[in-house]
Amino acid sequence: MPAFTNPTDLARETLKLLSARRIAPTPENYQTIYHEIAGTKPVVPHSKGDQALLKALQELAKQVPGMGPQFKALANALGAGEQKAIETALASLVPKTALGSEASWGELIRELMRQWDLKQSGITVARKKDGLERVLSNFSRDSSVLFTKVQALVASWAENPTAQTGVPVEGGEAVAELQGKTAVASGGGVSALEIPTSDIPGALREMLAQTIQTGVAPRLSQFPDLRDEAVMLAQQAREARDQSSIQGVAKNLKQFWIKLELRNDSDAQVLDGLVRLLRLLVDNISELLLDDKWLNGQISVVQDIIAKPLDSRVLYDAERSFKEVIFKQGNLKHSLLEAKDTIKNMMATFIDRMSEMTASTGEYHAKIERYTEEIGRTEDINKLNQILGNLMKDTRGMQLDMIRSHDELELSHRKVKEAEAKILQLEQELDHVSELVHEDHLTGTLNRRGMDDAFERELSRADRLNVPLCVSLLDIDHFKRLNDTYGHDAGDEALIHLVRVVKEALRPSDVIARFGGEEFVIILPEAGIDEAVMVMTRVQRHLTKNFFMHDNQRLLITFSAGVALRGAGEGAESMISRADKALYQAKEAGRNRVVAAA
Ligand code: GH3
Ligand code: MG
Ligand code: MG
Repeated sequence: MPAFTNPTDLARETLKLLSARRIAPTPENYQTIYHEIAGTKPVVPHSKGDQALLKALQELAKQVPGMGPQFKALANALGAGEQKAIETALASLVPKTALGSEASWGELIRELMRQWDLKQSGITVARKKDGLERVLSNFSRDSSVLFTKVQALVASWAENPTAQTGVPVEGGEAVAELQGKTAVASGGGVSALEIPTSDIPGALREMLAQTIQTGVAPRLSQFPDLRDEAVMLAQQAREARDQSSIQGVAKNLKQFWIKLELRNDSDAQVLDGLVRLLRLLVDNISELLLDDKWLNGQISVVQDIIAKPLDSRVLYDAERSFKEVIFKQGNLKHSLLEAKDTIKNMMATFIDRMSEMTASTGEYHAKIERYTEEIGRTEDINKLNQILGNLMKDTRGMQLDMIRSHDELELSHRKVKEAEAKILQLEQELDHVSELVHEDHLTGTLNRRGMDDAFERELSRADRLNVPLCVSLLDIDHFKRLNDTYGHDAGDEALIHLVRVVKEALRPSDVIARFGGEEFVIILPEAGIDEAVMVMTRVQRHLTKNFFMHDNQRLLITFSAGVALRGAGEGAESMISRADKALYQAKEAGRNRVVAAA
């Protein structure tokens, strides 16, 4: 079930899709996409040759006695483009045209009687009688040939407008005129009857002549020269009896088709116009989409055009009015954008200068009020632009008056900025100095004071962000022994080495502080207990891989650690105390390990 059934929606969607797929907006592409959206089947397009043949067949169906249904069937099959049906229709046509059957004789005689009684202009009963006698005397030996000849004779009578109706058929005069010429040229009678060549080519020649004369010529009423040429060609086709004259007819026919093709240029012009129009529409789709009202308006223009028979004049007019609409729209949009920009600029200026507006600008305020009134009254966008322009001019004029005080303000502002920068620099220096006071002089880690500050900061941050916080207390294993074996200085170096290695393995956000002697506190922000234990274990492994070098000796330093996760609202002291208990457990369990506090 297609999403769109309304023609307006379909047309709009088709154009949108053409634009989206970047397909050239030719009438063929428009048709394809249209049917895709509508879920309908496109009509099989016919070539000009097919169209001419269809017309000829439809004409033959009317004209040839007794053959109406067969010609109609062939025309329908051709129209639908169904190969099988075309073959069947042709097969049914051949025996009847060429040979005739018992049944057809009856129909033919009935038609002959009917045409005999009708009064055709230019054909008297005496002439009919003469024609029939000639046919009977020349062809009565072979009934199928006789059938064809009688049929052609009756058809030639039927070609002429009947005198009773008095309504002239298009091209009828020319046909009658031709009939007259034929009578002179062939010494009376009907040319079709005097074909002395074999029967089937004769019948085909007659059919070709009839197709041109009754199918083509009447449709060229707007081109009288071509119509006359068609009539002449029909005559030539009838008279062509030998090979060279048939070739002559073929050559003339080809030239005639070419002329017809060129004359049909007006069709090409219509198509060109349509393509240009659609391209114009598609090119402007993005603009039009800004406001659906515009789109609907313009789509309906196209719909109106499509509804009427296309002719280049209509398209030209539509294209012109279309261009005008787009041009006007463009102008309007430009003015709107300009006005918007002006308003924006004005707003910016107002805000900038707001602080500078003082009582001395009373005159300006009065002007603003006047402008505000004018703006309120005007509907015209161009007028609005003009008002805003004047307003801007006045604003600038006032700014000039203020430049001096503005410069002074700017200067003091700059001075304040410089002072701010100086203050910031001093503050940073001060921070640095105070940081030094918070550091342990041997290892460069925070000292107890620094640790207290860090705790204060991290605890409140954890509360504020509602994130976990862990603390670890580490103690070097058998440090006394190291001191005793290698000396106190080696012990100091070992402490420095430990801190360097620990810092390498910690996260940048972790904080390390010397708690006392060879004990260190590590604050682990935003870490749960598992992550904290993992971090400390990683530190431990890192330390075992990085030996402490003393007098070219590789000394292995290990530590034990307890880790505590902060409970709700828990303070630093309590956390450290729990971590200390866990540390004690780690020592008890054999050292060089990390234990999580309960
Ligand atoms: P464990 O912790 O594994 O139970 O054994 P330990 O040997 O480390 O035990 P303890 O805590 O009793 O020993 C701490 C030693 O650390 C005592 C002291 O000599 C030494 N120490 C403390 N501060 C420093 C320092 O700043 N420099 C040096 N070189 N040694 C220190
Ligand atoms: Mg200790
Ligand atoms: Mg120790």
